[in-house]
Amino acid sequence: MISFPIFLDNNATTKLDPLVLAAMMPYLTDNYGNAASVQHSYGWVADEAVKIARQEIATTINALPQEIVFTSGATESDNLALKGVWEAYKSKGNHIITVSTEHKAVLDSCAYIQAHGGEVTYLNVDENGQIDLDDLQKNIKSTTILIAVMFANNETGALQPIEKIGEIARANNVLFFCDATQAIGKTKIDVQNLNIDLMAMSGHKIHGPKGIGALYLRRRSPRVTILEQMNGGDHENGRRSGTLNVPGIVGMGKAFSLAMDNLDMEISRLENLRDDIENFIVQNIPNCHVNGKKNRLPHVTNISFFEPNSNQLLAAFRSKLAVSAGSACTSAKNEPSYVLEAMGLGVEAANSAIRISLSRFTSKEEIDFAKAFIVETVKGLQL
Ligand SMILES: *Cc1c(COP(=O)(O)O)cnc(C)c1O
Repeated sequence: MISFPIFLDNNATTKLDPLVLAAMMPYLTDNYGNAASVQHSYGWVADEAVKIARQEIATTINALPQEIVFTSGATESDNLALKGVWEAYKSKGNHIITVSTEHKAVLDSCAYIQAHGGEVTYLNVDENGQIDLDDLQKNIKSTTILIAVMFANNETGALQPIEKIGEIARANNVLFFCDATQAIGKTKIDVQNLNIDLMAMSGHKIHGPKGIGALYLRRRSPRVTILEQMNGGDHENGRRSGTLNVPGIVGMGKAFSLAMDNLDMEISRLENLRDDIENFIVQNIPNCHVNGKKNRLPHVTNISFFEPNSNQLLAAFRSKLAVSAGSACTSAKNEPSYVLEAMGLGVEAANSAIRISLSRFTSKEEIDFAKAFIVETVKGLQL
């Protein structure tokens, strides 16, 4: 049985896995200790649970538990990585390289850094949302301290050439920060092979709870240092103060380890469902266009319909489907998506984009219903 509206907006957030909730429950009830309380068993129980979760998250990305710093989410991890590195490496340089299609948490942190005297270069992307590696290489200078490039884009799923970026960063002795929020559980990530030095992650994009995230910080060759952005108590080895969100951390650890179970099978299942809905739409609606199709995550498609616009489409879909505009446009201000514009899409294409994002809980029945419903609805509106 399908329950409506069908949730196909999994790049915005995901359903909490019941197994994650079950793992969290004891830490929301009886085991309410503060993980920093070393004097009694309430603290030890909490600390032990945090240890296990830290190991689960580290294992997912081939890191060490000491390299994981817990935060309130990927937004905070992005802020901590960018501002933390910029403040810690001032004696080396003042220049950061990022990309125009990054998440707002990265772009707004970069804007803050610029407003406070830092220098930021924004690389362009091609029609598939990917940067040009020569362009990256050319923009590195002696004062460059950090390259910040996301693993995969939240609007289109477009993957960046992470391995090559890691090689370039390493060869030039520049740190590489990667926002991998969307990529966790949708592709394999190995921070060693990829030469990633800092990496942002979130719980709620992968069936964990909201309000918990982590930042991976490389400990060796090179050892990354950051300046703390949240002061008070020196938790997380002085990198992020604040009482640990024990239930959230336990949930994130469980969510990460569940995401690794049968990952290869899940990737091909998602890819098949995504290709099915995408092909059906493309075959039945003339003139629609898939944005950034070349190299992307398996669970997302971003399609421009040209007419009607995204808001009209969303309104027509609403009772049956929860999807989102590829753009950040609100009903009030009809601004096209900066991500799609950077990929060279015209205003009409950018203003009529719909993002469909699947999850582990998306079923074939839901996709069969959704694809027929979308085609029928769009055809009706285009008459
Ligand atoms: C969702 C998202 C974020 C923000 O994560 P929160 O945990 O909600 O703060 C950052 N970056 C990307 C790429 C995202 O998709």
